[in-house]
Amino acid sequence: MEARRGSNTWTPAELSSVEARLAGRPAEYLLAWAVGAFAPDLCLASSFGPQSIVLMHMLSAIDPKTTVFYLDTDLLFPETYELRDRLSERFGMTITRVPASLTLEQQAASYGPDLWSREPNLCCHLRKVLPLRRFLASRPAWITGIRASQTAQRARAARIEWDDANDLVKLNPLLDWPTERVWSYIHSHDLPFNRLHLAGFPSVGCRPCTRAVRPGEDGRAGRWAGFAKTECGIHANRADERAL
Ligand code: SF4
Repeated sequence: MEARRGSNTWTPAELSSVEARLAGRPAEYLLAWAVGAFAPDLCLASSFGPQSIVLMHMLSAIDPKTTVFYLDTDLLFPETYELRDRLSERFGMTITRVPASLTLEQQAASYGPDLWSREPNLCCHLRKVLPLRRFLASRPAWITGIRASQTAQRARAARIEWDDANDLVKLNPLLDWPTERVWSYIHSHDLPFNRLHLAGFPSVGCRPCTRAVRPGEDGRAGRWAGFAKTECGIHANRADERAL
């Protein structure tokens, strides 16, 4: 199948049709279809979370030349940067750094210190959403590790969908995987993972916006604690953006 972009002949109906055809197929099958349809410009977004590790492992067996990228906010944990290097070595895959729109110093000069503590939506927009949009601008499709059980917004996603905020096809192969299945995959394949997960951090983002969760709390309760914010914005569609 030929990747189509620009005037884009991928209609929502076409994507729904492909999704229906691949329904019930395993994540690896969907990834293999995506490689066939979109390589060499296909890319995988990695946050170095458990889902990203599973997808990198699968892709390393299908097409290790697939572009893997991460959004470097300059505020990730040292453990996350260390994991990046271990994953690259383990899978033999190059991991592309996508920098923020501006340095921390430039951000502080323009918006004041510690923007994340006052306006996390704006901080995420500058350090994640805009860099992502630029990076995806020339690509036909991206792969993400979102799962439906993580947030209400993610529960509305499809395994194959049109990303109208970034104007390309979006693939979410692990959408229906429960947390236990992700970890079972990681352990059964003896894959490396972020050491912070052993210290009470089920979800790891930027240092200023991530804390350990307490017993009984939701797995994402440690992200943007104190704010009514559950998403960084990179998975929002246009309707979600209008609602902000
Ligand atoms: Fe800024 Fe926090 Fe968003 Fe990172 S997670 S970009 S520090 S608001």
